[in-house]
Amino acid sequence: MSERDPRGMAARVASFGTSIFAEMTRLATEHRATNLSQGFPDFDGPEFLKRAAKDAIDVGQNQYARMLGHPTLNGAIAARWTHDTGASIDPDRQVQVTSGCTEALAATFLGLIEPGDEVVMFEPFYDSYRACASLAGATVRLVRLRPGVKGWEFDEEELKRAFGERTRAILVNTPHNPTGKVFTREELTLVAGLCQRWDAIAIKDEVYDRLLYRADRPHVRMATLPDMEDRTLTLSSLGKSFSVTGWKVGWCIGPATLIAGVRAAHQFLTFATCTPMQLAAAEALRPGGVGDTYVGSLVEQYREGLARLGGALTEMGFGVMPVEGSYFIMADHRMMGFRNDVELCRDLVVRGGVAAIPPSAFYENPDDGAAFVRFAFCKKRETLDVAIERLRAWRTELAGRHA
Ligand code: PMP
Ligand code: GLN
Repeated sequence: MSERDPRGMAARVASFGTSIFAEMTRLATEHRATNLSQGFPDFDGPEFLKRAAKDAIDVGQNQYARMLGHPTLNGAIAARWTHDTGASIDPDRQVQVTSGCTEALAATFLGLIEPGDEVVMFEPFYDSYRACASLAGATVRLVRLRPGVKGWEFDEEELKRAFGERTRAILVNTPHNPTGKVFTREELTLVAGLCQRWDAIAIKDEVYDRLLYRADRPHVRMATLPDMEDRTLTLSSLGKSFSVTGWKVGWCIGPATLIAGVRAAHQFLTFATCTPMQLAAAEALRPGGVGDTYVGSLVEQYREGLARLGGALTEMGFGVMPVEGSYFIMADHRMMGFRNDVELCRDLVVRGGVAAIPPSAFYENPDDGAAFVRFAFCKKRETLDVAIERLRAWRTELAGRHA
């Protein structure tokens, strides 16, 4: 038998450590820094949404919701899906409500992946993916996204090599955290072909699906590609599109057979999701409702914030990568003279008063992410202006230090 971890932690979690998001937000608070690290808005969600949640509480919607999700929310998720894709789905058998996309991911892994199964993921990857794979006992096969002439690209042959007899699933996040990449129809079609060839399922994390900044990079739903409906699970949540990341209302959409596995795990992970928030979420998702107007204006705000921050970073000498969607900018910092991303982020928070994320946390081998820094631009205009001012002062001071 293997040795027990000295802290008493189970082997499946012993390597997790503290999430980089919690760590950087803690440092931001300690140094009174402008926080462009953890991806959450520094402004409140819309009034209509808060009112809907308060109304639900006031009318007594405060007991356990149905395990599969409050019927009103399952109905709203299905209606939104039909509006977006033209396909009708069964709101009970094909939709599972979860406590954020984080739980949808965990329930998907625990409900559908056997120990020893292989799961393909693109690297850099959102930190919970690896943790979920470890909880499920899955082996991860990584495919690298690299900066190329058209933005972040992957090598087709590398993707093909990652699939094989043991592949159970591929996890695709688009728009992508941390790169801001939106996968193209051609890229997703390639993935779809491999899923069919190896009889694998596609797990699609779409939490940023409505935060898109370029007309030539629309969001493509894997489930709508030929022959993919029966092997695709689409995971998402309310937090990003409606600026309520703390509400943790998420969902998973897919064929009834796969949803049954997700549901079996959800039943004993959380059983049900916060009832009044589910009712408010239903209001937000209604096609053609106030929610759509809100998302439209949010995207405009973010597009402007992206241009301001991206432009300023470029002027300072960072190598800013194109951003097609999400909350994030990735910038190459190598011309700043730091050994790696962690060193840069530490210096920036302590001496510059701005917190960012070292993306090495999204790589299997931290050295592979050492050249970049991730900034979140999902912030108020004033916050971005203060951050830009501080970054400029830090840059000038840094140039003096190295002179
Ligand atoms: N997936 C990605 C790619 C994310 O960036 C996040 C972070 N917020 C999540 C999932 C988790 O979403 P939620 O807050 O709904 O659990
Ligand atoms: N998704 C957020 C980010 O990438 C963080 C969520 C979290 O703290 N777990 O910044």
